[in-house]
Amino acid sequence: MQVKAVKFGGSSLADPEQFKKVHEIISSDPTRRYVVASAPGKRFDSDTKVTDMLYACYDMAVAGLDFGAFFDGISARFDAIIDGLGIELDLSAEYESIKTSFRRGAGRDFAASRGEYLNAKILAEYLGYDMIDAAGVVFFRDDGSLDEKRTYTTLAAELRMHERAVIPGFYGSMPNYTIKTFSRGGSDVTGAIVARSANATIYENWTDVSGFLMADPRIVKSPLGIKTVTYRELRELSYMGAGVLHEDSVFPVRSAGIPINIRNTNRPEDPGTMIVAGTDVYDRDHVITGIAGKKDFSVIRIDKDRMAYQRGMLHRIVEILDYNGVHVEHLPSGIDTMSVVVHTNELSGKYDIITESISHAVNPDYIVIEDGLALIAVVGRGMVGSYGIASRVFEALAKAGINVRMIDQGACEINIIVGVAEQDFEAALRAIYAEFVKD
Ligand code: ASP
Repeated sequence: MQVKAVKFGGSSLADPEQFKKVHEIISSDPTRRYVVASAPGKRFDSDTKVTDMLYACYDMAVAGLDFGAFFDGISARFDAIIDGLGIELDLSAEYESIKTSFRRGAGRDFAASRGEYLNAKILAEYLGYDMIDAAGVVFFRDDGSLDEKRTYTTLAAELRMHERAVIPGFYGSMPNYTIKTFSRGGSDVTGAIVARSANATIYENWTDVSGFLMADPRIVKSPLGIKTVTYRELRELSYMGAGVLHEDSVFPVRSAGIPINIRNTNRPEDPGTMIVAGTDVYDRDHVITGIAGKKDFSVIRIDKDRMAYQRGMLHRIVEILDYNGVHVEHLPSGIDTMSVVVHTNELSGKYDIITESISHAVNPDYIVIEDGLALIAVVGRGMVGSYGIASRVFEALAKAGINVRMIDQGACEINIIVGVAEQDFEAALRAIYAEFVKD
């Protein structure tokens, strides 16, 4: 039988009404057999996620404060879900045991993981599914990295023993049996691991938006949704700030050729965004897949006559930056000039030392560090081999009166990066979007 692995995010499991939607989604398709649950998220804008409450509560416990009343606020969130669903489940023994572990200093990761653990228990009971504790099937190594081989083998064997199951997201265990979590938003990663271990045909990631949009809706008014995006394109877009999915969730499924489908629990009729390993098919109306960007970059510009003929220069510059804890983001270069684009915050307090060290090492004719750069990535598999795309980007910017301070296009051709002054960022994004997506 076909298998789908489905993950529901915190907002999809925040209260009884959301649980009911989840029930409907799962029961409408019998192949949705393995379900990964997040902790209850926000029910409204000013609400607090249960994970954040657990961190705060544990901090109180470590500080020796009386955290009983605060913990009652957390258990009340779960009890309200149980009551609202009308299921027979009493978690009071679990609450007591968690409080005891807090007092014994079970760790912040353990504390945070209880949100997923308890919510998975409720969801399993409500759906009539088995529950598989992630602590026994997701394993980390001593250095904190995921032990993929052990995890996939153990989890695959466990899943074979369950026709249908709920698995809590976000955590696993260390070789010494303590609990460790992924970074924030890590239930996405668990979902991918489950999809891979179940050899699923698809990994559905249910959240509160209908997939990725072609541009940031806070900047571009009602941008179109992205129907299909490749993993490569997604990496480019998310690196530049297009959120929604935890970036590590791509790896387990990509190599296994399992597509990810981002779906909206509140609008299950929407097809969402499909993330696939590769496809030549692209949206011919728009050519590009999406636009994303970030502010707070700086450029270190280094000019030197006959630079192109000098060996080892780049190496020395990169070494100096590395030594000072500065990562190189982009390296657009000319014949006698080189620009190194870096994150401004990494330069803090180091402008002089970096300028001096580079001057000393490569004796440039001119060196300057300029802040206030924003980068915009125009991404699309449809750009490969088609001409005129770059000129459309620049024409759109020129028409909007925006000066392009830097250009970078990787040899893979799915990406053009332009640097503009920070104050032009929003206008530049809108101009590029309008060029490719006509009303
Ligand atoms: N509950 C965790 C968090 O808030 C993990 C997740 O929801 O994916 O980060």
